Amino acid sequence: MARRPDSVPDVLHPQVGEGLPSPQAQAAASLLPSVSIVEQTMAEARRALVLVLAVAGVLLGVLLIERWYYAAAQGEANHRHAEALRLAGAMRLVDLQLTTAAQMAVISGQAEWVQRFDRHLPEFNRLLAEARALAPADATARFDAATGSAAAELDDMRESAFEAVQVGAVDVARRIFEGERYRQKTALLQKAIADFSEATVTAAGQEITNMRRRNALIGVLLLVGACFLGVLLWRRLMGSRGHLLRAEERVKHLAASDLLTGLPNRTALHDAMAVAMGRTARGGTRLAVLMIDLDRFKPVNDRHGHMVGDLVLKEVAQRLQGLIRSGDTCARYGGDEFVVLAADEGTPSAAHHLADRIVQAMGQPMKVGSLSITIGSTVGIARFPDDGTDADELLRKADSALYRAKSDSRGGLCFYDVGLDELVAERAALEQAMREGIARGEFVPYAQPIVDLSTGRVHSLELLARWHHPQRGLLPPAQFIPLAEETGLIGPMTMAVLGAALSDRSCLDPDWRISFNVAPQQIQDESLVPQLLALLARHRVPPSRLDVELTESALVRDTDAARRVMHALKQAGFTVTLDDFGTGHSSLSYLAELEFDKIKIDRTFVHTMRERPESAKIVDAIIGLSRSLGVPTVAEGIETEADAQRLRSMGCLYGQGYLYGRPMPLQALSMLRGSPVMLPA
Ligand code: C2E
Ligand code: MG
Ligand code: MG
Repeated sequence: MARRPDSVPDVLHPQVGEGLPSPQAQAAASLLPSVSIVEQTMAEARRALVLVLAVAGVLLGVLLIERWYYAAAQGEANHRHAEALRLAGAMRLVDLQLTTAAQMAVISGQAEWVQRFDRHLPEFNRLLAEARALAPADATARFDAATGSAAAELDDMRESAFEAVQVGAVDVARRIFEGERYRQKTALLQKAIADFSEATVTAAGQEITNMRRRNALIGVLLLVGACFLGVLLWRRLMGSRGHLLRAEERVKHLAASDLLTGLPNRTALHDAMAVAMGRTARGGTRLAVLMIDLDRFKPVNDRHGHMVGDLVLKEVAQRLQGLIRSGDTCARYGGDEFVVLAADEGTPSAAHHLADRIVQAMGQPMKVGSLSITIGSTVGIARFPDDGTDADELLRKADSALYRAKSDSRGGLCFYDVGLDELVAERAALEQAMREGIARGEFVPYAQPIVDLSTGRVHSLELLARWHHPQRGLLPPAQFIPLAEETGLIGPMTMAVLGAALSDRSCLDPDWRISFNVAPQQIQDESLVPQLLALLARHRVPPSRLDVELTESALVRDTDAARRVMHALKQAGFTVTLDDFGTGHSSLSYLAELEFDKIKIDRTFVHTMRERPESAKIVDAIIGLSRSLGVPTVAEGIETEADAQRLRSMGCLYGQGYLYGRPMPLQALSMLRGSPVMLPA
């Protein structure tokens, strides 16, 4: 794409030696939270994991302890249960043996059965003691209450019966055993033993059941705990996911945004174009691509620093966003270039209207701290699908249109048309040729005399550039000055032409002053005056011999810069003439304030003086005004003696025009020397 002179390739340079962080640095710092969000999210995920692991560890520990405890308790309960069953069985058996031994002792009368009974009785008591140890306390108490006296009575009865058997009184023994009292007590004791055994077994079984219940309860609690843990983990993970998603969104946004202005950047613009073109194609409508380049932004950066430049760019972004409709896109395309994508209702007028409003808005002064800064803008417009169906192509064409708009007039707008590409290519070639031409000395000074209207003598020479183009011959300024101004080559060209004039002694007549033109762009160049002084010093010519012509349009475009450069020029010893006066609509107050040494009346007024009485009135007014300010006037474009006469009568002091001589090569100047160029009639 063609580069324009004051486009700023990259303003994202850190400010060296300034204490304050630049807006870019601040914008870049805004990246940090997203980094910390990622770290925060990671830390949170770590914390969630640790928490989950800890709770899971506790649950697992509880589960293991419970399992171990349950296994041990259940083993014990099972053992007690089995023991209770065994004891119940054993007690019934020993009780049977005791009963049998007692019965047999009575029936047989043999002492052997008494001995057997005596042997079984301690065993029964041992089993009973074991059963008591196993039995629950209430069962033991019940057993003791039920059997307390019966057992003793039975012991007594058995004792008596066995003693009777010993002494051979079997009948006595039989009566005891077969007696109602013995049967009752035996039955009571057996029932009590059976109940007791049953209670012991039941208690052991109940214990196992309770344990199972408790186990189930703990299982349920663990399950609930695990569920709770799962929910906790899920929520944590969801939280971390939310953080990550937000961080991702943020990073995506930053990657697609211009750090300074927050607008979509070039990459995001391409994406937006693809979407907008798709939507436009489906809807059968049109899309306008407006490429906006800021005018006079580079001098703002150069003069006030990047901090101020950045604030201006932010303000520009805000203004642009305020102008577009929702759904339209505004992106930062480069240093001082912006692109607006606007749905265009089918006629170019909508885009034209928007571009107009953009130019208007950008031309309004901006308050940056205590500064009031006025820039401008130029807009190039390409339309989808008419001018192209590809984003790059549309941008290139909008850029061509912008280039054209810049060359037509500053602060304008231009639609792309087919011839533009050729024009752009041609201009690019011309720019290159101009660059090389300056280095090769193809730009030469011509000089045109400015005469004292009262004496007809040459007062000064105006240096006017000509280009000896190798193929196209001698070119007048109209064919290269605008391009030189656009491309920034005007500075080097001016120096080359002035240098050539100063090294050619033919224009250095001690009676002649030398005028040369300084373009509006040059007044924003802080190095202009130092460069001029260096050039003059090289040629040993004092600045007091030179007169700088500054056009009125330069004054209007940037009054601050004009004021500064005027001051610097006058301080350095130059005189300054206001050129082309009457065409630039400058405020009269500037005229009084800026103290020009001469005012040049634009040649269009002089040319039309004869046909248009208004022109004569304007010329008369300018001369009157200048006189009241004490500033001499120079009339340009005097072609006839009648014009000269009239101007003289109006009080104009100096004149320039074909009547006195066309711009001529310096070698031809010798003919002007000595006598008046033309005597007053
Ligand atoms: P300007 O400074 O107003 O220069 C006067 C222009 O009026 C010159 O045109 C000159 O040839 C023309 N002119 C003088 N007398 C007559 C006349 O009687 N009739 C007519 N029709 N024209 C007359 P030129 O040489 O074509 O320059 C045009 C403009 O180009 C200049 O206007 C000046 O603004 C610019 N220019 C020329 N050389 C330079 C230069 O070295 N540097 C800069 N920055 N601008 C330059
Ligand atoms: Mg001039
Ligand atoms: Mg002029």
